[in-house]
Amino acid sequence: MAQKITLEVVKKEQVTGHVYFVTFRLVSPPSIEFRAGQNMMLMIAPGINRTMSIASPPNQNNELLMIHDVSPMGPGSKWTLGLHVGDSATIVAPTGGALSFDPSPKKKVMIATGTGVAPFHAMILDYANGSAERAKTQLVLYWGLRHEEDVYWKEEFDRISSLNPFFTWRLILSKPGDGWIGLRGHVTEHVIKQETNPEVSEFYLCGNKAMIEEVREVLLGRNVPKEQIKTELFY
Ligand SMILES: Cc1cc2nc3c(=O)[nH]c(=O)nc-3n(C[C@H](O)[C@H](O)[C@H](O)COP(=O)(O)OP(=O)(O)OC[C@H]3O[C@@H](n4cnc5c(N)ncnc54)[C@H](O)[C@@H]3O)c2cc1C
Repeated sequence: MAQKITLEVVKKEQVTGHVYFVTFRLVSPPSIEFRAGQNMMLMIAPGINRTMSIASPPNQNNELLMIHDVSPMGPGSKWTLGLHVGDSATIVAPTGGALSFDPSPKKKVMIATGTGVAPFHAMILDYANGSAERAKTQLVLYWGLRHEEDVYWKEEFDRISSLNPFFTWRLILSKPGDGWIGLRGHVTEHVIKQETNPEVSEFYLCGNKAMIEEVREVLLGRNVPKEQIKTELFY
């Protein structure tokens, strides 16, 4: 159940030009229960709050990781930019959870743009921590970013993939430099090319509205039942 929580900032890192990782330690209460894929609501100022995905898995229940793209530079972005280690913060959590995995054996295809990868990081780690039986289901992540300098967590997803054969991932850059030897373009075209029997999979989409609407339309056109498409719009 959602509750008001007092946190302390224990780590803050700038990982790209506009993405920050902030680790909060729970002060009161000292731990919470949540499902991977749920959110927290940051209480920024009286009457101003912003929703953020919890990027860390539920077994780490005394700390919460937030990954924040501060490029909009509205109140939420400025709040994160102004945080320092030792500061306290108030949130309400857990909220939402539209993306949490269905407990079915169907292959789970996650599609993210930008920091839309945050809930998937929590969900993939939670899955990896789960029982051997659960780990038999295939997980695939397609992650779209713009430039090489926007990339973080490459080693993290490579590491999870090397330890867990059920997990694979693809990074797709829409505006890479000439030297980029990885995948190019938009996530949608790569999902269409790779997921040849989409109707037998579940799809989890998170990020900007344009990507979500485009991918959803393509999947529905390929006979994926709408119950097998879950979405979370960041903006
Ligand atoms: C369920 C949910 C979970 C979310 N989780 C995360 C998360 O884990 N990490 C994260 O970085 N953000 C996340 N967001 C977005 C976040 O809540 C804020 O909208 C964002 O940080 C902008 O807040 P702001 O006050 O700085 O700007 P605002 O003044 O609220 O917004 C300014 C403008 O920027 C647009 N905008 C919002 N986000 C972006 C973006 N990333 N790129 C470009 N334009 C944008 C808004 O639509 C608006 O038009 C989530 C949103 C929702 C609804």
